[in-house]
Amino acid sequence: MLTTESSFSPSAGSTQDPLRLPVAGLTPMTTLDYPGHLACVIFLQGCPLRCGYCHNPGMLASRRGELGEWAEIEAFLRKRRGLLEGVVFSGGEPTLHAELPTAVERAKALGFKVGLHTAGVYPRRLRALLPWLDWVGLDVKGLTDDIDRIVGRRGMAPPHEHSLALLLNSGIAFECRTTVHWRDFDLERLRRLALDLAERGATHYAIQLARTGQCLDARYAAPVPGAPTTSEVEALVSELRPNFQRLTLRQ
Ligand code: SF4
Repeated sequence: MLTTESSFSPSAGSTQDPLRLPVAGLTPMTTLDYPGHLACVIFLQGCPLRCGYCHNPGMLASRRGELGEWAEIEAFLRKRRGLLEGVVFSGGEPTLHAELPTAVERAKALGFKVGLHTAGVYPRRLRALLPWLDWVGLDVKGLTDDIDRIVGRRGMAPPHEHSLALLLNSGIAFECRTTVHWRDFDLERLRRLALDLAERGATHYAIQLARTGQCLDARYAAPVPGAPTTSEVEALVSELRPNFQRLTLRQ
């Protein structure tokens, strides 16, 4: 269930307080998750959404972090100073956690740029974080009328719209990204979504074809009859490319 959104503040915790963030995983080095930067990715446990294609079902249930989980991450970050440029907070949905701002603040204090992966379901929390963020990857789940069906939760379009508007007005570098599963999309819907984002002012967009090896909803693991071919998708991406500064197809 989506938690009621309360705002949060990066100055909420002392830098000496132990944090209890539930860490679900760490990618120690990547060039893919924060475009143009050598970064690590910290995955936080818990997500209020239930996308059928979700390939991390084990990451969805929220929990309170154990003492020491974040301390281990912070020790890792201290050792990577000067080697990594950035730290990306991902999930799950990282803005679910009230202690995220303090973790962001600590990563900044260690000299890292900070990136955030979010589905934008908590816009007030996103707004509170914006002054500390260097880059955001915003999941755009679908057209307004399709979002609730795709994420398996009602009422998700308005907060997402709000988050997109915040980012468009923030001056912060960000990328919209859409995971496309052909149970949720057809080429025309994808075209309309991309053109809508371009019209609103999004300049960086990534279309990511869903991985189907392990899905929250088993039906998403099965082939979709009539799904577009790779060449049809690539042709659409070529057609859309002039509308963006950067349009990436990840497959
Ligand atoms: S794919 Fe959907 S359900 Fe899975 S972590 Fe991302 S937002 Fe949550």
